[in-house]
Amino acid sequence: MIDHAIAALADYGVRTGLIEPADRVWAVNRLLEVMGLSDYQEPAEPVREMALEDILRELLDDAAARGVIEDNITSRDLFDTKLMGVLTPRPSQVQARFHSLYAESPWMATEWYYRFSQDTDYIRRYRIAKDVKWVTPTAYGDLDITINLSKPEKDPRAIAAAKAAPQSGYPKCQLCRENEGYAGRMNHPARQNHRIIPVTIDGRDWFLQYSPYVYYNEHCIVFNSCHTPMKIERATFRKLLDFVKLFPHYFVGSNADLPIVGGSILSHDHFQGGHYTFAMEKAPVERAVRFPGFEDVEAHVRDPSTERA
Ligand SMILES: [Zn+2]
Repeated sequence: MIDHAIAALADYGVRTGLIEPADRVWAVNRLLEVMGLSDYQEPAEPVREMALEDILRELLDDAAARGVIEDNITSRDLFDTKLMGVLTPRPSQVQARFHSLYAESPWMATEWYYRFSQDTDYIRRYRIAKDVKWVTPTAYGDLDITINLSKPEKDPRAIAAAKAAPQSGYPKCQLCRENEGYAGRMNHPARQNHRIIPVTIDGRDWFLQYSPYVYYNEHCIVFNSCHTPMKIERATFRKLLDFVKLFPHYFVGSNADLPIVGGSILSHDHFQGGHYTFAMEKAPVERAVRFPGFEDVEAHVRDPSTERA
């Protein structure tokens, strides 16, 4: 029975292009190793196509029943990520694919990378599907509302405490590049299925990744290769503009470097972007700002409430 689930997961890898048909026997053997199994019988009949969530549940139930893992949500999340890590190509392969698509168009590159980040289960599609989203008209204009049910929000006091706490551990935080391929632990998520894309921002090495919790379409994070605190300053504008030059079909924005107003990881310099048009972008211009000497630059202060007048 469990052989069916292993075959189904290997087939999922081939079907989604994570592995090639030539990798299938190798992948089955690697999955057996992670499952702590040494025997296998390839199913005689082709295995029926199953949803990834169902395949992983079967494998997790089996591993828990045999005592390979403890039966709790954290252990299960660590373990199914280890399984998916078997199917995930190496960083150099992922970067090469991204760059060859980028040479054709940045749009094609991000489209592929977003699908890839879901196929590897780094973005857990079946959890994101539980989020509730809608647009509602208000006196201030249309508002986007999202109720995030796939990840609990952090307490602002916990965020402030984390910023003040001394740097320790490995990786230093959940945004650090050292998360790529990391096995995780009870208080840090597993990332064997996580791959990041190098980009140059303000002349420095940065990386692009998607948020595992996608609050809106193609919710991406662009982050510094160094674990350095967030700071809103003159260079912030150069960094933001460098990003939209690389990905003109994306927007990018920054949380404030203050704990109460949204940023959840202030110890690591990063921005958030994506393929989405927010209400703010559609809001009427309240005031245009001009910069003497830079007449070709337009800046706007937008205020949805001016529509009421
Ligand atoms: Zn960090």
